[in-house]
Parts: sequence; structure tokens; C-alpha cells
Amino acid sequence: MQRRQGGTIDAGVAAAPALALNRITCRFAARATAKRSNIAVTYTAVEDATLVVGPGEFVSVVGPTGCGKSTLLNVAAGLLPPSDGSVAVFGAPLAGLNRSAGYMFQADSLMPWRSALSNVVAGLEFRGTPKQEAQAKGREWLARVGLAGFEDRYPHQLSGGMKKRVALAQMLILDPQILLMDEPFSALDVQTRVLMENELLELWSADRKSVLFITHDLEEAISLSDRVVVLSAGPATRPIGEFRIDLPRPRDVAEIRMTPRFVELHESIWHAMKDEVLKGYAQSRRA
Ligand code: ADP
Ligand code: MG
Repeated sequence: MQRRQGGTIDAGVAAAPALALNRITCRFAARATAKRSNIAVTYTAVEDATLVVGPGEFVSVVGPTGCGKSTLLNVAAGLLPPSDGSVAVFGAPLAGLNRSAGYMFQADSLMPWRSALSNVVAGLEFRGTPKQEAQAKGREWLARVGLAGFEDRYPHQLSGGMKKRVALAQMLILDPQILLMDEPFSALDVQTRVLMENELLELWSADRKSVLFITHDLEEAISLSDRVVVLSAGPATRPIGEFRIDLPRPRDVAEIRMTPRFVELHESIWHAMKDEVLKGYAQSRRA
């Protein structure tokens, strides 16, 4: 394990990964189809998957649809106990919800009956922060994501991009050390998506959190990340490749895609992914 160096504990603590998924296997109960519908069978979605996110590191996980990306994220969030394997957060075993993490999911998670401001401060309210303090912080965060003046709007009065900004503020206001994001921008149009990706990078670089970012979009993964992990197609999904992204920062996600190094990285990662994407596609056609 970590050794104390030079008489301080810090050296050891600093070396612990923010998030470590260690040999994770997830099995789900499934039912056999047709005549044998009463026979219970298990489906192994993820098998023996190991994945580490360092402190302040931005890691993306890419893989074909249905391969087990959300399953892995749910394990990291502590929402789904793995059938096998363990999770450690800053070196400590995870039991129950991961309270060091904030989440952002693909689907809209805003409460439709609450205004933008009221949505952003919901987490602080649940934690018992005094109302005035929470509201002041909420206004500050809405301004930081470019939504000053929109405090009183309800979700149905906001565009898709604006809703994502509110969701970002809702997550970041709680100052989590780890961000878990599951295809957060995939429902947006291409232009809005690029704006949101740049926004995310800017907020992240101001105060480097550890990020586990799930996407099926390889370009998005490369342009945002320090490291990209490629998953195999399911069943029994596991990481099959890992690529360090040595593109300079700060990055503009639209411009970086035109650089020769980006194209080179894209080519080598796509080479590793292609067969798995085809397998995933064949399986989805059979299902
Ligand atoms: P991805 O996010 O990569 O699209 P998921 O992690 O959502 O994929 O799902 C991986 C596989 O596990 C899929 O085949 C899915 O049907 C299955 N699965 C996920 N959650 C459950 C569950 N709670 N019960 C049964 N099967 C599940
Ligand atoms: Mg998913």
C-alpha cells in the first residue's frame, strides 16, 4: 500500500487515486425468452473491469451502446453494488453512496416545479445550508455558467443548452471532488454541444476535479480528456485499450479537432474500437 515518505502522510494520500474500480463484475438477473420464460438466467454486463482516475485527471470511457458504460458509472456512484470487485475513493473502500462525487446524467435531472435558482440550490438546501447563503451561492453559480438573469425561469422556459448549464451549476455548487458524467451532452445539437464542452473544460481547469466522463462519441472523448479508456462490446465488457491524450491545454474543443495530433490519436483509438463497435451493432440487431 502507500508508504509514508519523509515523515509526512501527504505523500501517500496524494498518490491514492481519486477513484479506483478494481476488478468489477456486474451480473443482472435476466429471463430467458419464448417458451422457457420461467427460467431465470443471469446476464454478465461487465466482467473483471479495472479503471482508475487520478486526482485532477479527466478520464473518458468510450464504448458501443449497451456495452456497460452506465453500469460502470453507477458502480462508481455507489448506486449499484458490483457482483464482484471493489471500489475505492481516495484510497478508502466505498460502501453505499459515493459522497465525494457529483453526478450528471444523460436525461434531464432538473425538477420541473422549481426555478433555475431553486434547482441549483436544492443540494445545499438538503444539506441544511441557511437559505440566504444558499441563494447567494446559487446566483453566483448561475452567473458562472452564463445564466445571470435567468434565476426565475422554470426548466420548460429554458433551451436544452441552458438546462445543461443549470445541471452543471447544480452539480458544481456542492464542490464535489469527483465528477461522474454519463453522456451529459448527447441530447444537444452539435453547436450547443461544443459550447458546453468548452464551458466544462473552463470550469474544470479553474479547479481541477477528477472526472469520469462516459460517452459513445470518440471525438468528444479525445477533445476533453487526459486519458481515454476503450471498452469492449458486451456481454462481459472490460477495458481493452487505454490512450494518453497529450494534446496541449487550454483547448478549444472545436479547433483541437483539426490538429494533426488529434487526427493521429483518433486514428489509433478508432482502430482499437472499430471491431467492438461492429460487434455491438451486430448484437443490437439481433436483440
Ligand atoms: P451503456 O450505458 O454502455 O449503453 P448499460 O450499462 O446501460 O450500457 O447496459 C449494459 C448492459 O446491461 C445492457 O445489455 C443492459 O440491458 C444491461 N443492464 C443494465 N442495467 C440492467 C438492469 N438493472 N437489469 C438488467 N439488465 C441491465
Ligand atoms: Mg448508458
